[in-house]
Amino acid sequence: MKKNARGSLVRPDPLPDSASHPVVTPLSPSVVYASETPDMLDDQYEGRLHGYTYSREGHPNADVVAARLDAMEGVSGGIVTGSGMAAVTAVMLGLLDAGDHVVGGNQLYGRSMRLMNEDLPRLGIATTLADPGDAAAVAAALRPETRMLLVEVVSNPTLRVADIEGLAALCRERNILLAVDNTFTTPRGFRPFEHGADIVIHSLTKLLAGHSDVMLGYAVARDPALAEKLRVFAVTTGLTPSPFDCWLAERGMLSFELRFDRAQQTAAILADHLASLPGVTRVIYPLRADHPDHDRAKLLLNGQGCNMVSFELNGGRASANAFTRAADGLSFAPTLGDVGTTLSHPASSSHRVMSPAERKANGLSEGFFRVSVGLEDPDHLKSIFTDAVAAATAVRTDA
Ligand SMILES: *Cc1c(COP(=O)(O)O)cnc(C)c1O
Repeated sequence: MKKNARGSLVRPDPLPDSASHPVVTPLSPSVVYASETPDMLDDQYEGRLHGYTYSREGHPNADVVAARLDAMEGVSGGIVTGSGMAAVTAVMLGLLDAGDHVVGGNQLYGRSMRLMNEDLPRLGIATTLADPGDAAAVAAALRPETRMLLVEVVSNPTLRVADIEGLAALCRERNILLAVDNTFTTPRGFRPFEHGADIVIHSLTKLLAGHSDVMLGYAVARDPALAEKLRVFAVTTGLTPSPFDCWLAERGMLSFELRFDRAQQTAAILADHLASLPGVTRVIYPLRADHPDHDRAKLLLNGQGCNMVSFELNGGRASANAFTRAADGLSFAPTLGDVGTTLSHPASSSHRVMSPAERKANGLSEGFFRVSVGLEDPDHLKSIFTDAVAAATAVRTDA
């Protein structure tokens, strides 16, 4: 092309050359990638050359995040998806067929539960829920056509620990895919593939990205054929992520290990502190000796208790209102894994569709809170909780 013709081109030269390279992954928002010739494009499609074509099919920012997660989980071929639920959906709809049966943990994340209860049956995939802490109960739920078991390692919000060893043995024996949603535990607290999982799912929205400014998910299967099936399904159905979200998530993930270790250490301190406060009737933290799954938590969770603490105030809705109002500087917000401590109240949010009787049966009173511990100074957090519990206790009698 003649030099003097360049001025009228809408897309002139590529980036300026540089002998040095950026230390930060460049953000690549380009939807399309130009190849030199049809021969070259053929080579790309046939896998003889690595190259991007169209960003729904893949782009550098997604690949950088996927590679990071693959390394953390000790696997290869994972995909990044537009949200954690997109990852759950890719696993369910991408790998199961009409006529299959799937068993899910009975305390799954709310939207996973809805997928199990409403959408999968609508598409001809039968579902049953069972307690993942009880391998015999899960065994009783299996059918000849059961293809998959979906569980979370630590449940929300009562923080029960699944019997992963028992479930993995069962799945192996019956040739069932064990899918583990590792969002709460993260690869730092639990490595599912080392315990017999076939599939791992994450919501990066939570601890991994960690700053509540990006929604993304991740899914991978240990079997490369299944991993490829997941990738193709996600690309076809458009579950794949945007470059900017991946770029933000990568930045968050650079500090993930430090954040996780700090948050879970503070969670252990806060759990013991809460247990010492008058007005708190119950504290749930997996590493505390009074946790019903304490031994299993010690065995499975790599010495980490996770950054979640649940507790119960001695009081009703009025006490709960007083508590969030007095919890100065902590967000009352339905998420977890943020750099800041967040409070969640299952009775008014995640578990509001349950009847009060059902909530009672699950130990979720109006005084029940789940805390996602962040990076605040532990002593400062302790004083905030001391004051907020005192404020809640003051209104206890009129609750
Ligand atoms: C939040 C969450 C999800 C869903 O992730 P999104 O990124 O919000 O779609 C799935 N599983 C668990 C355990 C979660 O906490």
